[in-house]
Amino acid sequence: MSSARTIYHMKLDQIIDHTPTVRELVLKTDSPSDFSFKAGQFVMLNVPQGEAKPALRAYSIASEEQIKKGFRLLFKFVDNGVASNFVWGLTGGEVLNFTGPFGKVFFQEPPTEQIIFLNTGTGLSQHLCYLLSKKAQFPNLKYRMLFGVRSEQDMYFKPQLDALAKELNDFQYEFVLSRPSENWQGKKGYVQNFMADFDYKNIPSTFYLCGNGGMIKEVKHQLLELDGLEKSQIWAEAFD
Ligand SMILES: Cc1cc2nc3c(=O)[nH]c(=O)nc-3n(C[C@H](O)[C@H](O)[C@H](O)COP(=O)(O)OP(=O)(O)OC[C@H]3O[C@@H](n4cnc5c(N)ncnc54)[C@H](O)[C@@H]3O)c2cc1C
Repeated sequence: MSSARTIYHMKLDQIIDHTPTVRELVLKTDSPSDFSFKAGQFVMLNVPQGEAKPALRAYSIASEEQIKKGFRLLFKFVDNGVASNFVWGLTGGEVLNFTGPFGKVFFQEPPTEQIIFLNTGTGLSQHLCYLLSKKAQFPNLKYRMLFGVRSEQDMYFKPQLDALAKELNDFQYEFVLSRPSENWQGKKGYVQNFMADFDYKNIPSTFYLCGNGGMIKEVKHQLLELDGLEKSQIWAEAFD
């Protein structure tokens, strides 16, 4: 029987560097042999600290809930970060320890007509998990996503998101760059500057927000205090 205290030993099967500061780890269960979670949940990476207790850091699962034999995580490198230094020191084949799953930011069912994902950086992880986990059950929803990163160099996952856009009947996403080069033709600024495009006051919508706490605060202020949306329409996971 697993519990929050169960330590999951996971083998590092693959490392994918999407950019110099975004690294994906593909982990396979070692013992226990199965790991179950619900889309939207996170795990705690136990970062070894020599003789001292491990340091614990939270990471949202970026792969589908149907897979019980492992999961994928997306890491953003933070200067002098305890977990960041550990993760960027890995080479593959190591066994990492995790506890979890934790968290209650679930995909709301039955879903509304429109699903709006606003994320920044590795905040993509939770939304990717929802899309991958729910696409077979809910292929016809109007899925929209704004994906905020700093510049062109920080963009990642475009081929995978393009593949999802082809697979789903109505999924559209756009990058929003806060500091693009002068050649950038796409959206410039912050994800919260563009959400009015989704006509959410007229189309029944649910918002999922993930990543930077400042973004989440601003979006909630707009939606709850200025636009009068219900709390049940907004689900957020702040990474800081
Ligand atoms: C529920 C939850 C889910 C999360 N999921 C993810 C995820 O999927 N992917 C992911 O990359 N992170 C995620 N995080 C953040 C993650 O838990 C760590 O906080 C982050 O990886 C930094 O850990 P660290 O040990 O490398 O840095 P620390 O050693 O904790 O911090 C080092 C220094 O960097 C600063 N710092 C910490 N975080 C940031 C940041 N994001 N930006 C700038 N400066 C920072 C600190 O203030 C400190 O000065 C999540 C957090 C929560 C609460």
